[in-house]
Amino acid sequence: MFFELPDWKNIGKPAVPIKDVVVDSSLKNNRKSESLANEIKTSLVKDNIISEKKKSSTTVKLPPPIKPTKVIKASHEAKTKTSKAQQRLSGSRFRFLNQKLYQSTSKDAMKYFKENPEDFVHYHNGFQEQTKAWPQNPLNFFIDLLLEGNEYISSGDLLDIADIGCGEGMLARKLSEGSSPHRVHSFDLVSLHPHITSANMTSLPLPSESVDLAIFSLSLMNVDHSKALQEAFRILRPGGRLWIAEVSSRLGDHTIKSFNEMLKGEGFELQKVIDDNRVFFMVLLHKNAKLKRHARGGGEILQACLYKKR
Ligand code: SAH
Repeated sequence: MFFELPDWKNIGKPAVPIKDVVVDSSLKNNRKSESLANEIKTSLVKDNIISEKKKSSTTVKLPPPIKPTKVIKASHEAKTKTSKAQQRLSGSRFRFLNQKLYQSTSKDAMKYFKENPEDFVHYHNGFQEQTKAWPQNPLNFFIDLLLEGNEYISSGDLLDIADIGCGEGMLARKLSEGSSPHRVHSFDLVSLHPHITSANMTSLPLPSESVDLAIFSLSLMNVDHSKALQEAFRILRPGGRLWIAEVSSRLGDHTIKSFNEMLKGEGFELQKVIDDNRVFFMVLLHKNAKLKRHARGGGEILQACLYKKR
């Protein structure tokens, strides 16, 4: 699979001039400032902004002494520049990983994050940042539906739920905090918490017809996402529910109606569309109880959702 590399030109190059983080000789008598400068350098090394070699060479080369006030100012400026550089780097890293998830097959996505689990943490830190700017978090919509009795879930129901592409597994956590009776099986490429099982959504470690509700909250990301819908069809009991939340712009020239047509081709009957903001939409469906296998396969109509550089 070919992945396009975005603006990674800064990686490997120092984002701040090395001189800004040099521990100068006046710091020799100022342990606090020295440890601050070393802290900055350690974090620069950690984020690959400077190399380990550069770090040690900067410690050895000491410029002439300057007055303490100037040193404090220089350290502060260096720290500000450093955190800005770190923000830029983690922003571009998030965009890169997001693009990878949207433009690769589920198999390639699994392979990449298995080999680079630390990138999964980066991805989710970036994802959490993004959610802060959203008008509504679709996951909360689903959580509220499950916690409150309503026309979709009657309060006496005890459901086996598969949260597929669960991220940090918030659905399971919130339901358990809300003393919900439901049992949640949480799956994602990498397990960030003990209650999450690492699995590819195209082959889940669940028996056929074993769950009542399958949820894909913003997780039908890969180019072969119809395979994940087929897997949901397999694990759902006849008449079981399928809830999907997606980014509206992923429909491109399609409409929610054509999305639902595609889902019908996968064996799911529409129950309700929730489309009250322009950013996300949610669809609630049922597995067609009469079908033994998905009808004809609906194909993939969702496009990649790529973030622009801010
Ligand atoms: N459902 C959560 C997280 C959404 S982010 C929420 O609404 O907050 C999308 C998640 O889908 C990511 O954690 C990503 O790793 C997961 N994902 C993408 N492709 C996957 C695959 N093939 N198998 C399992 N999880 C996948």
